Amino acid sequence: MERFAIIGFGCAGYHALEAIRQAGCGAAVDVYSETNLPPYNPMLTTYYTAGRLPYEGMFPFGTLKQIAARLQARFITDTRVVKVDAAARTVTADDGNCRPYDKILVATGATAFVPGSFAGLKGTFCMRTVDDAVKLHDALAAREYRSAVIVGASMVGIKVAELLYNRGCHVTLADMAPHIFALAAYPEVSEMIEERLREMGIDMVFGQAIAGAEEHTDGAGNVTGCTVHIADGRVIETELLVLNVGTRAATGVLDPAQVQIERGIVVNTRMETSAPGVYAAGDCCQANNLQSGQTQIIGLWANAGVQGRVAGRNMAGVGDEADGNILHNITHFLNMDFIGLGDNRLTGQVYVDQSPDKGFYLQTVVRDGKPVGFNILDNYGVSGILKAHLIKVLRGQPNRFSPEQRGQLIRYGLDERFIDHLEARTYD
Ligand SMILES: Cc1cc2nc3c(=O)[nH]c(=O)nc-3n(C[C@H](O)[C@H](O)[C@H](O)COP(=O)(O)OP(=O)(O)OC[C@H]3O[C@@H](n4cnc5c(N)ncnc54)[C@H](O)[C@@H]3O)c2cc1C
Repeated sequence: MERFAIIGFGCAGYHALEAIRQAGCGAAVDVYSETNLPPYNPMLTTYYTAGRLPYEGMFPFGTLKQIAARLQARFITDTRVVKVDAAARTVTADDGNCRPYDKILVATGATAFVPGSFAGLKGTFCMRTVDDAVKLHDALAAREYRSAVIVGASMVGIKVAELLYNRGCHVTLADMAPHIFALAAYPEVSEMIEERLREMGIDMVFGQAIAGAEEHTDGAGNVTGCTVHIADGRVIETELLVLNVGTRAATGVLDPAQVQIERGIVVNTRMETSAPGVYAAGDCCQANNLQSGQTQIIGLWANAGVQGRVAGRNMAGVGDEADGNILHNITHFLNMDFIGLGDNRLTGQVYVDQSPDKGFYLQTVVRDGKPVGFNILDNYGVSGILKAHLIKVLRGQPNRFSPEQRGQLIRYGLDERFIDHLEARTYD
């Protein structure tokens, strides 16, 4: 009987196992997880911390016992894989066990990156794992924080800002980038969001590095607060410091001499790495970006699911491919919806559709007769159609909406003339 291994049981690992079984493959599967938890959805961690979701709500696929009954695998939990030898086809875990495999999926995700200047701090928080969510949840239950500095003005940072703001905490959002959502938003849209945040009383320190922070402790050694040093010399006193500076793909189990690794593990459209029998999926890998034609980490929940499924089907011997994805962010925060589609660095003809009565703002860039990116504020209903359209055009299909899509866009309040611009229609 063939023996498969799956390293990491998050979104990608779960979908791979499910695809293996749905393909009718009876291989023995060893699933390694460094925790004893079922797969969780990191997007839901802030909802748990905010008290808006019960603990169990973070685990969309049920308990490990339920999953084991459905999908038949050996779960090797509380066990961290330290090394995959792609030549010998073995997996070594931190308990010293070394087991053989025929095919392996690396689905180790990403870890929160904490810069060296913060490494010695005991009382700071991150938001990535269930443990991170529980730690902040419990800290908020134990103490009423009046001020917080959140480093990292990303989709994660803003969700943490939201939950603290809603508890009455004074929030300062800081980032080295000049604007909020620097990797997804056009500067004009960032400025609109920042204006709204300012009106709510949220402070922002952008375009400056955080040089470091010192913690203050009480007599018992408990951290009571922190002095945050901004690179331009300013200091901020805060009771709570949350770091969401970025993530790093967890690629350390593989040997770069055996498997091609750049920022992530490089995979093709079948989720195969450069080493035979080794697959990778999810936040640890870089697959095709349809827009750039280069491989890139696109750290999205749905992307990890698709990649996991494709890897699982190929491991099971049922050929499958995912031709790639585009950069894509959707977030709801502080009564706003922001959606960024495509690479926000691409320039071209800019068109705006703004409806003060319907309260939305939509900005697009059209280049060489095709849309290359969208920013949508407060009109999430159009995002599915626009994302599908962007991908369709990138796949070489005509830049035309179907009559049904056009009708839906108009129903969501878009101006017909704006839709014409998206299709690069010219007027005499
Ligand atoms: C706070 C937050 C908000 C987010 N919001 C959104 C959003 O709004 N929309 C969106 O699309 N995406 C969002 N994401 C991203 C999305 O959650 C990820 O892209 C997705 O969960 C990646 O799944 P994965 O399976 O690749 O990795 P993970 O879910 O990280 O799973 C990897 C698993 O591997 C385990 N592991 C790692 N190394 C080892 C090892 N050596 N041995 C054993 N086990 C190991 C880890 O413990 C982990 O359980 C968000 C992420 C976070 C953190």
